[in-house]
Amino acid sequence: MAQIINGKEIAAEMRGEIAKEADLLIKKSGITPGLAVVLVGEDPASKVYVGMKEKACKEAGFYSAEHKLADDSSEETLLSLIEELNNDDKVHGILVQLPLPKHINETKVLEAISPSKDVDGFHPYNVGRLIVGKPSFQPCTPYGVIKMLERTGTELEGKEAVVVGRSNIVGKPVAMMLLQKNATVSICHSRTKNLKDRVKSADIVIAAVGVPEMVKGDWIKEGAVVIDVGVNRLPDGKLVGDVEFEAASNVASAITPVPGGVGPMTITMLLYNTLEAARQKAGLAS
Ligand code: NAP
Repeated sequence: MAQIINGKEIAAEMRGEIAKEADLLIKKSGITPGLAVVLVGEDPASKVYVGMKEKACKEAGFYSAEHKLADDSSEETLLSLIEELNNDDKVHGILVQLPLPKHINETKVLEAISPSKDVDGFHPYNVGRLIVGKPSFQPCTPYGVIKMLERTGTELEGKEAVVVGRSNIVGKPVAMMLLQKNATVSICHSRTKNLKDRVKSADIVIAAVGVPEMVKGDWIKEGAVVIDVGVNRLPDGKLVGDVEFEAASNVASAITPVPGGVGPMTITMLLYNTLEAARQKAGLAS
């Protein structure tokens, strides 16, 4: 039976460390890490995420400011708010909650955020630096995956890693991070042939697909480590991942559950990146 990688526990432990580091930074430099969250419109799921981010900031002793714009706000209004936040010394990280309303150009908005405050890691400057292996702000969910692997003592160097999914927010960045850690990485997607055989060859499987339980238990190699990024709600309301959990946990050496796996790591890494941005501002970058 596989070890269950408890994301809630790892996230709680990391948040404790972040709060301590934030306190030290405040004492040393007088700088309180600050996050600005921008929400455009009334999307209920986005409102919940923004509320969770604010709460996490407060618990870590950060300054947080929420900026709510109406659904019909113009792109110019949003761009000028970002400009204001780029110049606000209390703000070290800026997060624009996605998705944005259709009339706003998402790329233009993300590129308007100063790369030094881009704690979501989506600005092309940070994406490019990740690819060339230079220090950068790394996107929160894939960065959380890497921290989970590190904290469970998973050896990455020389291992075969298979990433299923090639999105810009999860699949591609997690593949780059694994490569940086000297794993041999394959990226699979909807046109990949023989997906089962590819997954079967992996020491580390990262599933980021968004299709309930599509990675079957008998695709997993004996002893593999399985990280399931997927969050899928079934018609009966139950949450499941992209991996057949029960069957996979009979062969894997370690596996993340859904819920309680990767999910809690995302906001934790947002705090981590915001703290790092504040440390850079104080001239104390790690
Ligand atoms: P996405 O943008 O929809 O990308 C899905 C990827 O899966 C695409 O690359 C797609 O291939 C591939 N795919 C789809 N069907 C496939 C199939 N049958 N076989 C092989 N590959 C297939 O999704 P995402 O944003 O990366 O999110 C993936 C999952 O992670 C979702 O369940 C999402 O809810 C979850 N997620 C969780 C967190 C969190 O826990 N904090 C954060 C982000 C996302 P093509 O490129 O060929 O279309």
